[in-house]
Amino acid sequence: MAMGGRPIYTVGPGVPQVGTLAFGVVDRGTNVLEVRPTSVCALSCVFCSVNAGPQSRARWAEYVVEVEALLSALEEVVRFKKTDDVEVHIDGMGDPGAHPQLVELVEGAKAIRGVAVVSMQTRLYMLNEGRIRRLAVAGLDRFNVSIDALDPALARKRAGAGWYDVERVLQLVKTALEAGINVVISPVWVPGLNDEEMPKIAKWAVENGVGKGVYTPVLIQKYIPHKRGRRVNMQPMSWGEFWSRLKRRRSSESPSYRGRANTTSTRRRSSRGPTGWGRTWRSRSWRGASLKGRCWGSPCRGGARRFGTGQSPWPTAGRRLTAL
Ligand code: SF4
Repeated sequence: MAMGGRPIYTVGPGVPQVGTLAFGVVDRGTNVLEVRPTSVCALSCVFCSVNAGPQSRARWAEYVVEVEALLSALEEVVRFKKTDDVEVHIDGMGDPGAHPQLVELVEGAKAIRGVAVVSMQTRLYMLNEGRIRRLAVAGLDRFNVSIDALDPALARKRAGAGWYDVERVLQLVKTALEAGINVVISPVWVPGLNDEEMPKIAKWAVENGVGKGVYTPVLIQKYIPHKRGRRVNMQPMSWGEFWSRLKRRRSSESPSYRGRANTTSTRRRSSRGPTGWGRTWRSRSWRGASLKGRCWGSPCRGGARRFGTGQSPWPTAGRRLTAL
């Protein structure tokens, strides 16, 4: 197998699955464990912090980790955590949806004693309706889906792939919700590239029941260039600018619009959950799409920081296990 002219290696049980951020199991001291099954991705997003995809000039090989190796390591780490509310978050240096045994991985992770939630970071483009339904049956609880623009041409440009179809991805989001997998949409906001897409994405998410009243529907990420990632040729926003622009957006809404947003359960959601969320901030609401910020390093998806609220939708945002 090869991708973009690079060989794809299989990583088996002979390779330790703990101790690197590149693959295997990553434990950051919370109840969220990251599981990283592959570096393969068919997109070449213009801001990709891990420089993945066919257009990568920084990689010389790709890898796929065998499911048995991942599950065996995961079981051991979960046992070590000594808690019964572990969230297994499947992400990686590529898109985990590209892993050929994703259903088996989800099923195996969910069957481990102590695992309460299995979630996954993805752009969703590589799945179809049948595979999504199989993932639901296997026990997948949530997709965190990166969608950066609803405009089809802009979405293609940002994904670095002429074949990328955001309409299809939106359809798959609906399929996931129908199948019982919750969804949180996480756009990367690149100033000057997709400013006007943010409210459109939030509006679509709220109107289509994303988050299902359990999670906030949309979490915006601020674009931050990574030294080894792909970079967009423009000045990124400072944190101060990011916050103030989000605030301005919010204050530009009509009072009735804001009022509706504030009567949703997002306010309650923000204060509950097993998280160790630190600084959270109500920055913007579009009919209940509460966009709050808390910054922390992101493993992938846009060289960005995650902005989250609610119940640990991303790794490193889980409940800190101080006893360990
Ligand atoms: S940001 Fe994610 S989906 Fe885009 S190229 Fe990188 S790994 Fe693939």
